[in-house]
Amino acid sequence: MKKHFVIAIDGASSTGKSTLAKGLAKALDLAHVDSGAMYRGITLYAQQNGLLVNNKLNTKALLSQLDDINLYFEGDTFKLNGVDVSTQIRSMQVSEAVSLVATIPEIRSFLVAQQRIIGTNQSVVMDGRDIGTVVFPKADLKLFLVADVNIRVQRRFDELNTQNTTTSVKEVFNNLVERDHLDSTRADSPLVQADDAILLDATQFTVESMLDHVLDLVAKRLG
Ligand code: C5P
Repeated sequence: MKKHFVIAIDGASSTGKSTLAKGLAKALDLAHVDSGAMYRGITLYAQQNGLLVNNKLNTKALLSQLDDINLYFEGDTFKLNGVDVSTQIRSMQVSEAVSLVATIPEIRSFLVAQQRIIGTNQSVVMDGRDIGTVVFPKADLKLFLVADVNIRVQRRFDELNTQNTTTSVKEVFNNLVERDHLDSTRADSPLVQADDAILLDATQFTVESMLDHVLDLVAKRLG
């Protein structure tokens, strides 16, 4: 197998990107970077510091504090300034505001720079919205995941329910549709399939069969 390589997985929320990425990371002994966690981490920071209230973001103040925001992955946990926020970043409160934060070009370039450093120093599988188009346009393998919206809603609902929330299926549906819209229509790095990405419909696979299928693709592509 090639010495250093990057696998980019893009697609909308809850299409199974992170599950696939985790499976690949384990099978191939790669680092996994869930880039959505980083956008969620900045959103949480803004909420915790009174910079994002009722969907109104104090962009200027947030940009002036970017250097105070330290985000990193440690094993299965994700840390914001040393505190494990892995569960908190998945809350509905963060989900409802993250796509707004992700429209800001300075925030994107701040995170893209960090993502590039991680993926340059080691082989990675990175999932997000713009990994194959912007972060690693020369990635060795690019995948673009889609899935039936009802299945996506159910996945997200099940994930939230393990955290004892009272969010309804309708709220989850509305949030996914709204984020799909914001993510695919923003001016900077919208969610689009890269020309050389392989389209995979997660609805046609089980978790295991998707992983096997992609491991075959990796073997063919990377030897
Ligand atoms: O992947 P996840 O659903 O956790 O991502 C949360 C949000 O972060 C997305 O809806 C999107 O607005 C933003 N995001 C992004 N670019 C990425 C990853 C996530 O804009 N590479």
